Amino acid sequence: MRKYLHFIILIIMIFGLRLFAGKIDELEKKLPTVSGEEKVQILNALSRANLERSFEKALECAREALKLAQEIHDKEGKALALKNIGVGYYYLCDFDKALEFYIKSLRVYEEIEDKVGIARSSNNIGLIYWRLKNYDKALEYNSRSLKIKKEIGDKKGIANSLNNIGLIYMDLKNYNEALEYYNKSLKTKEEIGDRKGIAESLTNIGIVNSLLNNPNKALEYLLKALKINEEIGDKLGIASALNNIGSLFRELKMYDKAFSYLEQGLKLAEEIKAKDIIQEIYHNFSEVHSVKGNYKKALEYYKLYSEVKDGIFTEGSSKEIAEMQTKYETEKKEKEIGLLKKDKVIEQSRKRMFIFLLIVTLSIIAFLIYLYRLKIKMNKKLDILSRTDPLTKLSNRRDILEKIEMERIRFERYKRPFVLVLCDIDKFKNFNDKYGHNAGDSILASIARLMRETIRMQDSVCRWGGEEFLFLLPETNLEGGRILAEKIRNKIADNIYHQEKHKLMVYMTFGVSEYDKVMSIDDCIKQADNALYEGKKKGGNQVVVAKTAASLSQGQSSVESR
Ligand code: GH3
Ligand code: MG
Ligand code: MG
Repeated sequence: MRKYLHFIILIIMIFGLRLFAGKIDELEKKLPTVSGEEKVQILNALSRANLERSFEKALECAREALKLAQEIHDKEGKALALKNIGVGYYYLCDFDKALEFYIKSLRVYEEIEDKVGIARSSNNIGLIYWRLKNYDKALEYNSRSLKIKKEIGDKKGIANSLNNIGLIYMDLKNYNEALEYYNKSLKTKEEIGDRKGIAESLTNIGIVNSLLNNPNKALEYLLKALKINEEIGDKLGIASALNNIGSLFRELKMYDKAFSYLEQGLKLAEEIKAKDIIQEIYHNFSEVHSVKGNYKKALEYYKLYSEVKDGIFTEGSSKEIAEMQTKYETEKKEKEIGLLKKDKVIEQSRKRMFIFLLIVTLSIIAFLIYLYRLKIKMNKKLDILSRTDPLTKLSNRRDILEKIEMERIRFERYKRPFVLVLCDIDKFKNFNDKYGHNAGDSILASIARLMRETIRMQDSVCRWGGEEFLFLLPETNLEGGRILAEKIRNKIADNIYHQEKHKLMVYMTFGVSEYDKVMSIDDCIKQADNALYEGKKKGGNQVVVAKTAASLSQGQSSVESR
């Protein structure tokens, strides 16, 4: 904030100089008509007035005044001319030369004991030393100026010096001392009702308070200064106050408020073309955007600031712009990388999701297929179980009846006869009785195995009940059936059944019947049963072929009831 003070002072000086603007024409008209001391006075006045148009012209007039004053020994005019040359150099920013001529003018004022002159030149010398950061000298000359102004009762001048001393202490970071002088200056300005001066002091007090970390107090004073500037309609003062307040809000990290004040200030500063304030506001905008991490905007405003400040970019500003550019590029890159990463993450998670859903779907399908297969398997197993005799693992009665039914249908169409063989173990009860039920069971199982191994692929055998078995022999006639029955009977009879230490012989009796004409399956089985019964009657262990159906008596009971 301290840096604003320099341009505030400059603004005030330029503002004062504007008063002279209209006077130039008037003075130039008057110049040829006068001579002597009066001409020196006019030339000195022209020098002051020309500061508004051209510093060179102002210098030229002052030099002319000096020459004439020396010629006519006008010491007062000489002192003023020397001072005006100093002012010209001051505006040309040649402070060494300015200092040289101010000191020369002071010597002449001292010579003629012109207190007002001594006070003003001392004041100017103090200002130069302040600009050159020679604070000891600056204090010395400002104090001298103040002392004389007090002697002659120049209240406006006193207020000015007090303010200047305050500025020096502020640069020396002696804020409490600065505050004291600013307050004294303010009091004096209030006494003489210098409202513009009051606004200026209030601004300075606000700035010191901000440096003393009293932001609320600072804001209070800056707002007061703004109000007075608004009341007296000083647009430059208003713009400056808005900028100061915006800057304070920026320091307080209240960026929205800062933006609001800075925007108002910028509008006004642009209206009155106050370059210094425009430049400061651009700088503030740049800083606010930078703090907020908006490096693009920060860079834009910094460029604007540099343009206004330097006209062209200086080495320092180019470096800063380059730094900001880098920051901005980095920020852009980071954002892009962030977006890319985000896209990648989204794409990856989409892919993962897709794969996950695919796996889930496939798993469900696989599981359903498994369940379906399991069901089929179970059904098959159940079906097999429902058709299988658990002890002998042969077909049961239900299974073979279905198969016989199929053969019967085939017979009806193709007239292919088939044979049924019913057989029964002889005296099987005895085995159970003698060796136990388990022995009987194992005999049943081994006989069943033997039967299964003997028959052909297309033949079937079932456990018809107890110790009875029924064969279905498709595409076979009675003789074929008899041969197979004999073969099995022999095998069983030849076999020795080991029961613990006992060697047992098992015999079976067979009844063979042929299905060679339309009849019921029951009838065909009945024929085989009859033949079997006959074999039993004859002593068992033999094969009996059934008589033809014609010989069957009517009304016999069905095989299931046997
Ligand atoms: P036959 O020569 O007249 O056929 O005399 P048999 O003793 O074999 O005939 P019967 O009808 O008098 O007896 C059949 C026996 O078969 C009765 C029963 O103990 C036996 N049996 C039937 N089913 C089974 C079985 O599943 N296991 C065992 N161990 N014995 C059975
Ligand atoms: Mg029996
Ligand atoms: Mg029997």
